[in-house]
Amino acid sequence: MNSHTELYLNRRTFISRAARGALAATIGPQLIRLAPAQEPSGSEAPAPRSADTSEPWPIEKRVGVALVGLGRLSIQELIPAFRVSKKAKLTALVSGDPAKAQRLAQENGVNAESIYDYHNFGRIKANSDVQVVYIVLPNSMHAEYTIRAARAGKHVLCEKPMEVSVTKCQQMISECRHAKVKLMVAYRIQYEPMNRVMQRLVRQKTFGDVKYIESANLLKVEQMEWRLSKELSGSGPVGDLGIYCLNTIRFLLGEEPTEVFAQTFRPAGDPRFKEVDATAVWQMRFPSGLVANCTCSFDAHHTQSYRAVADRGTFGMDPAFPYRGLKMFVQPNEPPLPQIGQTDQFAYELDHMADCVVNDREPYTPGEEGLQDQRVIEAIFESAKHGKIVKLPKIDKLDAFRGLAAG
Ligand code: NAD
Repeated sequence: MNSHTELYLNRRTFISRAARGALAATIGPQLIRLAPAQEPSGSEAPAPRSADTSEPWPIEKRVGVALVGLGRLSIQELIPAFRVSKKAKLTALVSGDPAKAQRLAQENGVNAESIYDYHNFGRIKANSDVQVVYIVLPNSMHAEYTIRAARAGKHVLCEKPMEVSVTKCQQMISECRHAKVKLMVAYRIQYEPMNRVMQRLVRQKTFGDVKYIESANLLKVEQMEWRLSKELSGSGPVGDLGIYCLNTIRFLLGEEPTEVFAQTFRPAGDPRFKEVDATAVWQMRFPSGLVANCTCSFDAHHTQSYRAVADRGTFGMDPAFPYRGLKMFVQPNEPPLPQIGQTDQFAYELDHMADCVVNDREPYTPGEEGLQDQRVIEAIFESAKHGKIVKLPKIDKLDAFRGLAAG
């Protein structure tokens, strides 16, 4: 590691040099018009790696994970991530489609007896190969399956957004606490090395105090699907895309917003936006005085970025939130940013959860972190509804809702 790198990183585990090189074109996290999974192939396109420099755990020590919901994220990203993970293994599948589950089980070495459907899911309790249940279902189903998993004695990794209401997030936390199982929300950005470099620039005040951050996460939804259903998605583009802006800004700063002012937009007569908004914009104020502006949309060109403006410099990422092809920028570029190869964000996440299970640690992004995002999301909708600033309680502690830093 050179001295420049050390300025930005204090853990070797965030650096992966071996995986540089041309990668296939990126796809966005919520690309609605489905593209085939774009895994790199061929010798000039090395596969993303876990940047964890520790030795892979032997297979018998690896933490067994059941995937619940075999949609796009599971098939295109999570199943491949198990091949990169050093600490987790795929041991069970839960799906309403038996043929799909059988095919995926066969292809990925999952025992045919470890396939469940949504009715017999409770039987997973007896499966000692499963320690963690990873919920990858539409948002408003997260609480039900988290609670069922906790009651079966399994730790829970839950996709974002955690749920569709503060009340349901609180129920999930309380059920997991009661069952003495861990609950982690799958905020992959918080485990991704380049975003962690950006966090250091903010926290170490490399360019002085950050005064302003803007962040955008937009794409075009062209087909009807559950994300356009109020009941299943809860908050449309805000919980689906805007949560990246919200959660990443909270992660960069460690602070919590005290004021939110929002507006939402819905084009008249567009059948896609009968139940959810097309676009939301909001402003947040933080105790340090920093102001952030965020935009998310289901009805615009794919854009995923953030920019932080400090006293003596500007830095950020563009793109910031896709699965691959992330890019950092800084102005002025002195000292230069470290070189960080492409890594598999989902493998990090899985490895962190596995570490927490084996070493009995609180996840860095526990249920409380998802609950706090949901509180802000509800403030966004209240503000947009009444056209006024909504105040949130001032929280003095930094990283108030996070567990121990991921290593
Ligand atoms: P998807 O539509 O591709 O898959 C959803 C799965 O749920 C399908 O297998 C579907 O059959 C199943 N399902 C069960 N009951 C359903 C119902 N009533 N309606 C619709 N589907 C039902 O969705 P996805 O893109 O895989 O998203 C799943 C979860 O993952 C969501 O919470 C989403 O926010 C999250 N997600 C996270 C990321 C990320 O980068 N972390 C990216 C994409 C999606």
